Amino acid sequence: TDPAQYIRDTIRTVPDWPKPGVQFRDITPVLQDPRSFRVLIDLFVYRYMRQRLDLVAGIDARGFIVGSVLAYELNLGFVPVRKQGKLPFRTVAEEYALEYGNATVEMHTDSVRPGQRVLLIDDLIATGGTMMAASRLLQRLGANVAEAAAIIDLPDLGGSKAVRESGLPVYTVCAFE
Ligand code: 5GP
Repeated sequence: TDPAQYIRDTIRTVPDWPKPGVQFRDITPVLQDPRSFRVLIDLFVYRYMRQRLDLVAGIDARGFIVGSVLAYELNLGFVPVRKQGKLPFRTVAEEYALEYGNATVEMHTDSVRPGQRVLLIDDLIATGGTMMAASRLLQRLGANVAEAAAIIDLPDLGGSKAVRESGLPVYTVCAFE
């Protein structure tokens, strides 16, 4: 089978979670199975091994899992993009809109040096709000955001399109309509 299709087939869909009407795409079976975990990371490694990158920035919390393993494999450093109130040192924050209300992502002010080329990674792009807020944070710190990567795209929500239209390239392994 095609590796991306293998990953897609391993993702579990949980209906009506966290609320009625939502089909949650659960990546825990991909991480739990050693073959699919390796296939997943290798897809990202092959894509990024020839690119000049300095850092991987992973988004809280599932972006930490794939991002840290990828950074290690690519011999890059890893920096976290965290939810509000988790980071102990000086932070910069960006707010973004959720369906109801707002959310805030934060990074340490010294997590990126100006001019560093950063790969941004998360598990899934829905509206793209999280990716775009994280990208704004990185740009405020002077980083060049090379690409936004995720395992899953939900193209019907238009997020990956919006991220691309903001000028940031997007790579996703698979999509669910
Ligand atoms: P966005 O900001 O693009 O609307 O939402 C993306 C964020 O919400 C990601 O951080 C992602 O982890 C989370 N998310 C939203 N829906 C799902 C889902 O169905 N499955 C998973 N694994 N994460 C989701």
